[in-house]
Amino acid sequence: MSNIRLKIFFSFLVIILSQALPQNLERIEPPFWWAGFKSDELQLMVYGENISKLKPDIEGSKIIIEKVHNVDSPNYLFLDLKLNDNVPQTFEIQFFYKNEKVLSHDYELKKREASFYREKSLNPSDVIYLIMPDRFANGDKSNDEVDGLIEKSNRKSKDGRHGGDLQGIIDNLNYIESMGFTHIWLNPVLENNQPDFSYHGYSTTDYYQVDERFGSNTLYKQLSKEAAKRGLGIVKDLVLNHIGSGHWWMDDLPTKDWLNHQDKYIQTNHVHETVFDPYVTKAQKDLFTDGWFVETMPDLNQKNQFVANYLIQATMWWVEYISLSSIRVDTYPYVDKNFLSVWSKKISEEFPYLNYFGEAWVNDISLVSYWQKGAKTHDGYESYIPAMKDFPLQKSLVTGLNSVHAWDSGIGNIYRALSKDFQYGDPYNLVTFADNHDMQRIFSLMGENMDLYKMALSIILTTRGIPCIFYGTEIAMSSTENHGELRKDFPGGWENDSKNVFYDFGLNAIESEAKNFMKTLLNWRKSSDAIGKGKLIHFPVTDGIYVYFRNYKEDIVMVAVNNLDQRKDLDPEHYKDVIGGRKKAIEIFSENAYSLRKKISIYPKTANIFQIK
Ligand code: CA
Repeated sequence: MSNIRLKIFFSFLVIILSQALPQNLERIEPPFWWAGFKSDELQLMVYGENISKLKPDIEGSKIIIEKVHNVDSPNYLFLDLKLNDNVPQTFEIQFFYKNEKVLSHDYELKKREASFYREKSLNPSDVIYLIMPDRFANGDKSNDEVDGLIEKSNRKSKDGRHGGDLQGIIDNLNYIESMGFTHIWLNPVLENNQPDFSYHGYSTTDYYQVDERFGSNTLYKQLSKEAAKRGLGIVKDLVLNHIGSGHWWMDDLPTKDWLNHQDKYIQTNHVHETVFDPYVTKAQKDLFTDGWFVETMPDLNQKNQFVANYLIQATMWWVEYISLSSIRVDTYPYVDKNFLSVWSKKISEEFPYLNYFGEAWVNDISLVSYWQKGAKTHDGYESYIPAMKDFPLQKSLVTGLNSVHAWDSGIGNIYRALSKDFQYGDPYNLVTFADNHDMQRIFSLMGENMDLYKMALSIILTTRGIPCIFYGTEIAMSSTENHGELRKDFPGGWENDSKNVFYDFGLNAIESEAKNFMKTLLNWRKSSDAIGKGKLIHFPVTDGIYVYFRNYKEDIVMVAVNNLDQRKDLDPEHYKDVIGGRKKAIEIFSENAYSLRKKISIYPKTANIFQIK
């Protein structure tokens, strides 16, 4: 072969080789990490066409790659890193084909930032404000539609995207603070690149990216900083159970078992009881956790160790990056329970101060208590999640206020629900609510009766637990059970809205009354040690009246609930075990003082909150 022919031959060889070799790294996740976690292990997911042909290596750092995993798809590598030198730094991950360096990536271990919520997480002195970001306030019209994200803006459709965003929340933090809320839980804000129903956020299509129609990762961080200045924590809604069908993994799943029922769609039976039921078949138990929530929400297989590690690290990443004050975990019991145990233990080890809660939408206390840390379980199972949402109390509240007093109905439903709190690991640490983003609004559940609405909220805001108020409940928004309809736009969040809650403009009498009531109650609650730190003591319903106390040291609050149609006299003598020799009861709204030496008249359809002096 002549010299020139040889040259051409080798040039061709290089071209063929280089075409087959990976050209770029499309993703490394987590995109960066922090130095100084208790665990010195980190598993990176590396994605790029044919990346598995390359051999990764780290030089010039004590950080080493302990193991490289090839998986079913040739386009992924999983790297087990050992962070021997666990200090902030940037190191180079090199990717070799034979001895030739083909690709390189600088990976950063950041310094962990100090944060207010390192010391103080969510606790019973707090009240959470739950916001559906698409429906609260549109602070940036320019992001209502974004190239590359399928669903466009459609405010006319109750199920469409309405344009609300993180900027809208930042713009209205003063309102949230002034109302007396102390944490903001946002329904999920991560990318949901789905053709429809993307506004609610529960179909994650990228675990490391805020949906651009809400803003950006940086703006989310800014929200957290601005909120912290006002003493407000940020609670992240986290979906571990499933992804959205538009997730970037779906075109190229890393392994054959990345999803449950990966080859054929099978829906969950949605029956929580199967977790506990001694008579049910294994197939039905498995169907509950392994079936898909709905067809557009593929079910993640957390028994796969790469999936498990990915979800644990993504959780840690957001807690650290945003300085979250708490996490709310969606559809907690639908997730593989062994994984939940590992996940929750790990999160509590790395963030010991963090109080976070799970959702188990079921009204039977034993089926909720099972999941909370500290519960005595029938099978020795341990989940380390410190808190759960209190669905059983919400149900008792609604049925209790809507039914007639009898031995098994009426206001006693609330007494009876709370009397079963012995099943919980820590009943004071349950997240309580009168309504939420998935159910009819409390004002409507109470038949749009202002008295009942006030009673429901007075009880939720004074009994044990950490209350959560759904945006709009503070102005007694009404709704049907329809999701799009109960997640209505918050008045004032959009330009040219005819009423504006933030600036008290155009509200009707009901809305103004509800807002004043809520603002007064929340701000009083903030100052009450009895509510924030106190024990609950209650009495069996007597003569139709339900009376309970919260007390902390010398601070005593008494709540007397009369859901009858007539006035009732409350005899303080009956409660002398708690009241002792104290003389006065001051009603917190009117500030009227009542003598505890004589009977106090309790008006029909009222929950009266008294400071005992
Ligand atoms: Ca917007």
